[in-house]
Formats: sequence, C-alpha cells, structure tokens
Amino acid sequence: MLKRLLAKASPLLGSHADWQGSCLLCHQSCDNEPLLCSWCRQALHQSQPRCRLCAAPLPEYQEECVPLCGRCQRRPPPWQRLQVIGDYQAPYPMLIPRLKYSGQILLAPLLARLLADHLDGSDPPEAIIPVPLHWWRQWWRGFNQAEEIAQTLGKITAIPCDTRLINRIRATPQQTKLTAGQRRRNLRGAFHIAPHQYHHVALLDDVVTTGATAGQLTRLLHESGITKVEVWAICRTQRHLK
Ligand SMILES: [Zn+2]
Ligand SMILES: [Zn+2]
Repeated sequence: MLKRLLAKASPLLGSHADWQGSCLLCHQSCDNEPLLCSWCRQALHQSQPRCRLCAAPLPEYQEECVPLCGRCQRRPPPWQRLQVIGDYQAPYPMLIPRLKYSGQILLAPLLARLLADHLDGSDPPEAIIPVPLHWWRQWWRGFNQAEEIAQTLGKITAIPCDTRLINRIRATPQQTKLTAGQRRRNLRGAFHIAPHQYHHVALLDDVVTTGATAGQLTRLLHESGITKVEVWAICRTQRHLK
C-alpha cells in the first residue's frame, strides 16, 4: 500500500514512460527490448566458469574437475553455493545504485530476468528469501531492492518468494564503509528467523561484498534447521569473501 502511494507521489520511483524508446545505458533507440537494447543486454552477461562457493572466476580447465577456487577448498564459506550474474564491474556500478538510491524500481525486474538466465536450475530451492531491510530504512526508501528482485525472480522460476522468514529486528548502521570484522559485529543480533519447515532456501541480495550479511544469515538459517543455504545475488565485488 505504502509502496503504491509512494509510486504515485514520487517520480523518482520510475515508470516505463521514462525510458520508452531509448536504451537505459547507451540511449540508442530500442523499441523491441524494454529498458535495454539487445547489444547492452548482451554486454551485461558474463559467462565464465565460477567457483561454486564464492563465485570467483575460475580458469576454464579447472571447472571440470574441481569447481572450487583454492581459497574455498582451504576455507569454505558457511553457505552451500553462491550464484551471481558476474563481477561488480561496468555497467553494474551504474545500474544497482540507480535501483537502490535513485529509486528506479523498474530496474529490479530487468536484473531479476538477467539473474534467472544465469541460475543453475538443476536443484531448485524451496523458497527465495530476500535479505530484509530494517522497516525504518524500507519505509524511508519506499521499497527493498532485494525483495523487488526476489518477487520477479519468484514469478520467473516458479519458486515462492518468502519475505516473512527473516525479520530484521535491529537497525544497523550502513555497512558500505565498514571492514569485514566491523560488518560482522554490526550485524550481531540484527535478525530473527520465524518458525518454518524448509530444508533448502536461496537468500537473495543485490550485491555480495564481504559476505558478512549472507554469512550471518546462513548461520542463523542453519541453526534453525535448514541444511542447504544458497546465496543468489546480481553481482559479487572482487574482494575476497570472509
Ligand atoms: Zn544500449
Ligand atoms: Zn571460491
């Protein structure tokens, strides 16, 4: 309801009319593809083999035998799989902040469609769980970008999107400028897991940076009885995950 009101009140939330007829990235006309021309859409796909656990790019020859990077073989992250479209490089550093901070909410279905094209569908999770924002931040922003992406992704993949499993019970300072250790401390006691019957879920976030949020949530989901936690995101930054 609030979202609908804000969408009416604020032109910042974006509408198809803002973009009709020209590509969001290169501004050439693109009547057939909404938002992006087919050339830019192609440029957004990154298709090299990636580590199953941290999504770091792997050399071609390595994927066949061991689909894990050396770092994850020595010290695996808590989740069972990380799937992303690619690295946080052009044009994603332009697209994702537009969605988060400029409220261009129509980018969410676009990014969800791109992510759906990249997901390995061989062992689908029972639910997609968007990483929640604290209600105050969500109210302030008018939407949760992870939830917007998850809702479209749920429709494309026919996997239910569950926005009630994880509650953010404490607001945390924004993590953007914090180190990995500070991020972990910042997140302590921030979430609560509702009762459930899941065994396998996919956590969805827009970008995985240090993996502090995804790691903390994965540990809580494991403690609540879920055995397989995947993390799905649009991009990973090229820093090492902790
Ligand atoms: Zn274009
Ligand atoms: Zn790895």
